[in-house]
Amino acid sequence: MKVCIHRGTQEVGGTCIEIEAERKRLVLDVGLPLNVEPSIRHLPKVKGFREPDEALVAVVLSHPHQDHFGLSRYLQPDVQMIMGAAAEGILKASALFTPTGATFRHVLHLEHGKKLDVGPFTITPYLNDHSAYDAYSLLIAADGQRLFYSGDFRGHGRKSALFEQFLKHPPSNVDVLLMEGTTIGRSGSEGKFKTEQDLEQEFVRRSTILRGWCIFR
Ligand SMILES: [Zn+2]
Repeated sequence: MKVCIHRGTQEVGGTCIEIEAERKRLVLDVGLPLNVEPSIRHLPKVKGFREPDEALVAVVLSHPHQDHFGLSRYLQPDVQMIMGAAAEGILKASALFTPTGATFRHVLHLEHGKKLDVGPFTITPYLNDHSAYDAYSLLIAADGQRLFYSGDFRGHGRKSALFEQFLKHPPSNVDVLLMEGTTIGRSGSEGKFKTEQDLEQEFVRRSTILRGWCIFR
């Protein structure tokens, strides 16, 4: 298995990773860099992106955030796409309103824990806790090797149980780990993030104060 990271190692977002095995290729994410406008000029130079190439077996979108899918609308229309079913719905709906939304001709869907064979690659998706709905980590097996791509994830959201479950039962015998990591900590947070539940309670508390203030006025 060979891996080429086209974008995402020197900046936040714009992720695009090409994997090759048995002369076939699989791409993980076609992200829009955070500091540019959407344009086909920014599409990485991968064979099969602009013109059909049977060696490119599929492009997987890990989740519906622009820095992971935002250039996918510029792919030639016969590319086999793979993403979550809800993610596809989100991209389709947003195509009406945003310059990065997209509809695709050929789509296979990721499902938590369900193996998917594409060419020489076996993809095992792991549903993630993330601020984007329908986000996955991906275990890719080919050539007798295993690569794990974390995609974006967190451990303090509404699906934090998935993260805990993953820590208890991580995939074994991983040869290569590609991990996203933009926020390990935050100044002033004393090492602990507020959870979604913490924030919800804070919103309720602040709303209550505001309502009281309105009544007294
Ligand atoms: Zn994300």
